[in-house]
Amino acid sequence: MATAASRCLLPWKSLTASPPPPPSNPNPFRRLPLTIPITMSSVSKNVIKRDVVVVGAGIAGLATSLSLHRLGLESVVLEQAESLRTGGTSLTLFKNGWRVLDAIGVGNELRSQFLEIQGMAVKSVDGRELRSFKFKDEDKSQEVRAVERRILLETFSHQLPPGTIRFSSKLSKIEKSGDGETLLELVDGTRVLAKIVIGCDGIRSAVARWMGFAEPKYVGHCAIRGLGSFPDGQPYEPRVNYIYGSGLRAGYVPVSPTKVYWFVCYNSPSPGPKISDPSILKEQTKELVRGWPSELLNLIDVTPDDTIIRTPLVDRWLWPGIAPQASSGKVVLVGDAWHPMTPNLGQGACCALEDAVVLARKLAAAVRSGDPGAIDGALESYERERWPRVFPLTVRANVVGSLLQWENPVVCSVRNNVIIPKVVRLGPLLEHTNFDCEPLRPVESFTGS
Ligand SMILES: Cc1cc2nc3c(=O)[nH]c(=O)nc-3n(C[C@H](O)[C@H](O)[C@H](O)COP(=O)(O)OP(=O)(O)OC[C@H]3O[C@@H](n4cnc5c(N)ncnc54)[C@H](O)[C@@H]3O)c2cc1C
Repeated sequence: MATAASRCLLPWKSLTASPPPPPSNPNPFRRLPLTIPITMSSVSKNVIKRDVVVVGAGIAGLATSLSLHRLGLESVVLEQAESLRTGGTSLTLFKNGWRVLDAIGVGNELRSQFLEIQGMAVKSVDGRELRSFKFKDEDKSQEVRAVERRILLETFSHQLPPGTIRFSSKLSKIEKSGDGETLLELVDGTRVLAKIVIGCDGIRSAVARWMGFAEPKYVGHCAIRGLGSFPDGQPYEPRVNYIYGSGLRAGYVPVSPTKVYWFVCYNSPSPGPKISDPSILKEQTKELVRGWPSELLNLIDVTPDDTIIRTPLVDRWLWPGIAPQASSGKVVLVGDAWHPMTPNLGQGACCALEDAVVLARKLAAAVRSGDPGAIDGALESYERERWPRVFPLTVRANVVGSLLQWENPVVCSVRNNVIIPKVVRLGPLLEHTNFDCEPLRPVESFTGS
């Protein structure tokens, strides 16, 4: 059986020189040409032509490519790295994320590998429990699991047709060609002419920059994350645990029977220098939370150095009338490339997944319609639907982060002794996880064949 790497490292040439054999059950949609004619007058012959190019093989890129594939529209994914991101920690996905994973058809495969988290507890730094909640008490349909990023990406990539992901393909330049297509140039000199470009290249998106978006802004705190490893089984209850200090907070959540994710978030006036030695990072983290509950310190101790990362937190607010449009001339943004948000609501990846299915549905329907104007309409409709969802969440995540990073000891005492125990209600706090998402129907349902 081909491995993910061997399936995805085909040279570019093989895409154009020897197209893959037709599938046993040919997909009529795939054979439909996009209705925008390509003329090659303005580009040289050494250009690879693709209908749909996705830039970035992160969560947004792979979920978008897979959603399109489920709907019968093939794409190629350009990824700057040599392979899928194998390091990193985990992401907490709420029910909106799971609805999308089900719609794409990978929900159950992932569910079987990750624990269902039952609730959450908030503690003060002396270990006193301030409040606990059970998710199902608030909302029977809530589903929370922390998913290893590596496994999420691998699961998507295994479902994509061989050769879809092009590794070592860093986008270096974008320009419009004469006929409305987009010419992408990679650092190795490869040039790709695309009818539709979907920018999923994360917070430092080159595609977003080209579209006129400002760089995301540092919000004044950094997160250090790790994935504790317990080969003989981890001892923690399946709940999210938060510990709130002054200008400093931490959290941990079991991921699987042998892994537990943790983070420490601290205030810092500037992002500070990059620390590339994870053992130094580990020591610095332990120093930050010295004297905090021992279960957190033990967890940091059993964390393999290579899973520890520090990230300065950033976001970008999509002010109406000020931020550029999410799409321009058949180039569109998805996920962090469009709406980087702080992780305080655990919604960045969940929203990237939502974007992916919404965009794929609209794009596939537009292509099928055969109307050349329909694609622009689909991209505009995607923005109209998604902006009211992602802009308020970006703002809310930022505000929540600021409240949780308070430094004033009096304010922190009121928060810990009055607001959390007596005022906070979990239900309204998680209302944003409501998101309906029907399964992506195979192309046969569209054609009625
Ligand atoms: C501390 C922290 C905790 C978080 N916790 C959660 C959580 O619990 N739940 C949740 O839902 N979200 C969480 N998030 C947010 C989540 O990580 C992001 O929203 C998500 O990763 C966005 O995915 P993406 O695919 O848009 O971007 P990315 O994951 O950044 O992927 C972008 C991809 O594009 C590639 N790329 C970049 N530039 C180029 C180029 N020029 N050419 C080709 N390829 C390129 C990159 O190599 C990468 O593979 C957290 C974020 C942080 C920082």
